[in-house]
Amino acid sequence: MMPPMHTSALVLFSGGQDSTTCLAHALSRFERVETIGFDYGQRHHVEMVARLTVLTELRQQFPAWSSRLGQDHVLDLAVLGQVSETSLTRDMAFRMESTGLPNTFVPGRNLLFLTLAAALAYRRDLPVIVTGVCETDFSGYPDCRDDTMKAMQLALSLGMDKRFLIDTPLMWIDKADTWRLAHTLGQQADAAGGGQRLVDLILEHTHTCYQGDRTHRQSWGYGCGACPACELRAKGFAGYMGQPRG
Ligand code: ZN
Repeated sequence: MMPPMHTSALVLFSGGQDSTTCLAHALSRFERVETIGFDYGQRHHVEMVARLTVLTELRQQFPAWSSRLGQDHVLDLAVLGQVSETSLTRDMAFRMESTGLPNTFVPGRNLLFLTLAAALAYRRDLPVIVTGVCETDFSGYPDCRDDTMKAMQLALSLGMDKRFLIDTPLMWIDKADTWRLAHTLGQQADAAGGGQRLVDLILEHTHTCYQGDRTHRQSWGYGCGACPACELRAKGFAGYMGQPRG
């Protein structure tokens, strides 16, 4: 558990399943929670819209969290498009590279996100930075690994002369457990059906699909159903439905 001095946090919030679960985690623990998102010229503006919808729905459906949920910050990171050619920032088809990483991978992207988040957290006096990175993820992004997070926590704390804590609630759990965690957090926030309500909110309003598909409603939410992000989300939800409450 967090030491008692940590009462506020900044959540890296993209509007996806993982970062929404991280936001619920933060709202259940901290008195003041702010969010940060990055607009870096995604092919699909769907994510930027989804994150605002999720914030609105969380406020409306979870009054206990509404008073804790503070400012949302969006930083323009169009500069990422200048240093990368990937299917997220250019009009290229999604594919897996020979390295085993999808071509959506922007080298060091999370390092940039965390550095900017820490700079904002410094100004906003938010000592905890919450991020939904995960080592059990299919893609194995090196900038999502636990060692990278520990190194970043140290580098940011030293480089800004301020003690930051990088909180990664999803690091060692799979996607089925991420659904279970959401259910648990929702239920804690509101014993009268909050668990299912948060699961339903995430199903309906978060966005994960690489193709930006919001037209096909699957049992696990909206998405093309064919891209690796959809496959991962579908597999996780199937696992959750097979054994809903861990
Ligand atoms: Zn998809």
